[in-house]
Amino acid sequence: MHKTDRIFQFLVGLVFFGFLLSLVVGACSRQAESSGTQNRFQVQADSILATMTLEEKVGQMTQITLDVFTVKDNNGKKMEPVVFDMDTLMLAFSKYKIGSILNVVKTAPSVSWWNENIAMMQEIALRETGIPLIYGIDAIHGANYTKEATLFPQQIGQAATFNPELVEKLAALSAYEMRASNIPWTFSPVQDMGRDARDSRLWETFGESVYLCQQMGIAAVNGYQGKDASAIDQFHGAACLKHFLAYNSNSGKDRNPLSISLRELKQVHAASFQAAIDAGAKTIMVNSGILNGLPVHANYEILTTLLRDEMGFEGLIVTDWLDIENLYERDRIAASQKEAIKIGINAGIDMSMVPHNFRFCDYLIELVNEGEVSMERIDDAVKRVLVLKLELGLFDKPNTYLADYPDFGSEKFKNLALEGALESITLLKNENNILPLKKNVKVLVTGPNANSMRPMNGGWSYTWQGEKTDVFASQYNTFLEAIQNKIGKNKVEFFEGVSYNMQGKYYEEENINIDEAVKAAKGVDYILLFAGENSYTEKPGDLHDLYISDNQTDLALALAKSGKPVILILNEGRPRLISKFEEKMGAVVQTYLPGNFGGDALAEILFGDVNPGGKLPYTYPMFPNSLISYNYKPAEKQEKHEGMYDYQSDVAIQYEFGHGLSYSTFGYSDFEVSKTSFNPDETLNISIKLKNTGSFTGKEVVMLYSSDLYASITPDNKKLIGFEKVELLAGETKTITFSVSAKDLAFYNYDNQLVAEKGDFVLRIHEFEKRISLNKSSTFDTPSKVRL
Ligand code: BGC
Repeated sequence: MHKTDRIFQFLVGLVFFGFLLSLVVGACSRQAESSGTQNRFQVQADSILATMTLEEKVGQMTQITLDVFTVKDNNGKKMEPVVFDMDTLMLAFSKYKIGSILNVVKTAPSVSWWNENIAMMQEIALRETGIPLIYGIDAIHGANYTKEATLFPQQIGQAATFNPELVEKLAALSAYEMRASNIPWTFSPVQDMGRDARDSRLWETFGESVYLCQQMGIAAVNGYQGKDASAIDQFHGAACLKHFLAYNSNSGKDRNPLSISLRELKQVHAASFQAAIDAGAKTIMVNSGILNGLPVHANYEILTTLLRDEMGFEGLIVTDWLDIENLYERDRIAASQKEAIKIGINAGIDMSMVPHNFRFCDYLIELVNEGEVSMERIDDAVKRVLVLKLELGLFDKPNTYLADYPDFGSEKFKNLALEGALESITLLKNENNILPLKKNVKVLVTGPNANSMRPMNGGWSYTWQGEKTDVFASQYNTFLEAIQNKIGKNKVEFFEGVSYNMQGKYYEEENINIDEAVKAAKGVDYILLFAGENSYTEKPGDLHDLYISDNQTDLALALAKSGKPVILILNEGRPRLISKFEEKMGAVVQTYLPGNFGGDALAEILFGDVNPGGKLPYTYPMFPNSLISYNYKPAEKQEKHEGMYDYQSDVAIQYEFGHGLSYSTFGYSDFEVSKTSFNPDETLNISIKLKNTGSFTGKEVVMLYSSDLYASITPDNKKLIGFEKVELLAGETKTITFSVSAKDLAFYNYDNQLVAEKGDFVLRIHEFEKRISLNKSSTFDTPSKVRL
C-alpha cells in the first residue's frame, strides 16, 4: 500500500472513531441532561400523560370563561345572582375534559361564593377527568374579583414607590387572598413597557424604564409565587407575565398593530420579561396584537424561537382572550377557525383562552388525527399544564378555603395597602412650599375625582371596567371623606364642578356646577382640585386626545382666577396633559390609581402627617406631539432655534421620569467610583452619601444612570441601572452603594447580540458624574435566530 493511502486510511479511521465516540458521549450526556433536568413534577407529569387519551389531552389545553356555565335571561343576557347551567358544566368536563376556567360572570362574588362554587366545579372536574381544574383570574391589584378583598394601588402606582420589597409584599397579599378565594392563578404582573402616554393600559405597567420594570417584575413574581421556585405553597399562586411581546408599546390605541425591530424587542421589551422569567414565573400570556405584520399568537419565531429557545421559558404559554379565534375572525391570517387553531398551537401555544365554546377541542382533535398538529406538540403543551397543576399542589389539595386564611381582609393587610398608596403618591410641584397644609385651614374640595371610589381604583376592580366600585367599596373613604375625617367636615366645602355621569348608554363628563364651585372658593383658604380620569381598561379606555378634558380644564382655569391657591390632585391611569393650566397651580400631586386606601393616604400627605416619597415612573409629557421617554436618543431633543421662526422644535416635558418632591430636602455628596477604567470581568463599586438636610423624616430614591458616550448603535441619552429607596431622619446621613459590571452597560448591537463595547461611559447620580472606561468589549449571548 502506498504510504499516502495508509495515512489516508488512518485518518479516515480516526475520524470514524471520533464520530463513534461523539455519538456515545452525546447520547450519554443527553440522557444525563434529561434525567438531570426532569424534576419530580415533570416525571409525574410524564406518567400522567402516558395514560391520557387525545381527547383528555386537548381538554387540558382548553380554558373556558365562567359565564358559559351560567343560565342567561330571556334576552340571552348574563344574570346575577348566578345560576349554574349544570348540563353545560357536565358537558365541559365529561365530554370535553376541559382543564381550566377563568373570570367572573359580571361582578366580584364573595369569598364564600368562590370557595363553594370552585369546589363544586373542581369536584366535577376530578370525577370526570381525574385531573384538577385550574382557575385563573385577573387579580392585578389585590384579589380584585373577590368582593371583600384588600385592593391596593395599580401597577403604575406600585412602580412609583420604587420599593420592590413593598411590591413583593403586596403581591404576596394578593396571592394569599386569591388562595383564600380558592383561586390559584393570577394573570399578573404586566411586564409590558409603559412607554406610550396615550396607552389605555399604561397604568397596568411598571412604567417606562426597563430596569424598573425588571426589578418590580421580579418582586411581583416572588410575592405571588413565594421564593421556592420548585413548588408553590397554599399561600401563593402562579403568576402570569403578560402580554408577550411588546403589547401596546408606542401604538396609542389598544391592540393597534406595531412594527418594532428585533434589536429593540430584545433591548427593551424582552428584557423586561426575561428578568421575571428568570425569577421563575410559571406562565406567560401572549400579546393580543399584531407585531411586524403577524399576530403574535401566530408567530412561531416569537413564541418558540425567542421565548422558548433563546429566553429559556419552560412554563405554560396561554393565549389572551379569544385570540386564536381572532386569527381568523379579526386578523384574517387563517381562512377558517380550524386553520387558526393549527397555526396558533404550532406556533407554541399551550392553552387557549378560547373562551366561549368547545369548538377548539373538536377542531384540535381533528387536526391531530389529520397530522396537521403533531402529537409531540400536544404532549409538550399538556405536560406544561400538568406540571403547573402539580407545582401548585392541586393534585394533593384541589381546593383552598377561607377558614385557613385568617389574615384575609385583616387590619394588617389594610395597612399594607395603605402603605402602598402612601409610598406611591408623588409630589410633582410645590411652589413656595404650599404643602403640607395646616389642619386648621378651610378648603374647597372640587373636581370629578373628589368623591368616588371608582377612579381611585381604576379598571379590573370588582368588574372589568370598574364601573361598580362605588357600590362595592362604599365602606372606604373617598378623597373628600378622608379630608373631612382629617380636618373636620365644617372646614370642607364640596362642589364637584364636573362629574362623570351616566348619560344615556354611556358615561360622559358633564359640567354640573363649575360656577358654584368658583363661588365657594371665595370663602376658603385653599382649593383642592381632584382631576384626571374615570376608570377604564383596554379598548374602552382609548383616547382621541391626551389633553385632560375641556370641562376639567375650564374648571381649573376658573378656579385659578379666584385668586385662591389651587392644589391640583391628579387621579389618572396615564398622564393626561395639564399644560393649559399647570402654571396656575400652586402644587400638583399625582396619586395614580391608589386603590381603596388612596383617600386616607392622600389626606395624610396633604396635611403633613406623612412626607411624600413617590417618584414618576414615566415621563409626563407637556404636549401631544412631544411624547418622549427618559432614555431618548440625542437627535430627539433639541434647543429652540434662536432668531428664527421656530414653532416648537424643542421637546417640552412637564415632569421628568424619576421626578418627585419631598417636604424635606436631600443633599448628595462624596460620589465615589472604585476605578476609572475596568475590564469586563471586574465589578465597579460605587458609593454616594445622602443627607436629609430638611426638617421632616423623609424617603429619597437614589438613582444611578449610565450613558454610553460613543457606540456602534446610537446610544440612549441615559439608562437607569440602579436605584435604592432610603429613609432618613432629619439631619441623618447614609452611604448608599451600588455595584456595576460590564453587563449593566451592555446593549443589543446591529447583529442583535448583547454586547458591552469598549470605550467611555458616564455614571451619574443626581448632579454628580464620573467618567469611566471599559478596556475590552465583551458579548453576553449569541446573535438571535429570530427573523422578523
Ligand atoms: C386582557 C388580558 C386579561 C384577559 C383575561 C384580556 O382581554 O387583554 O390582560 O388577562 O383578558 O381576562
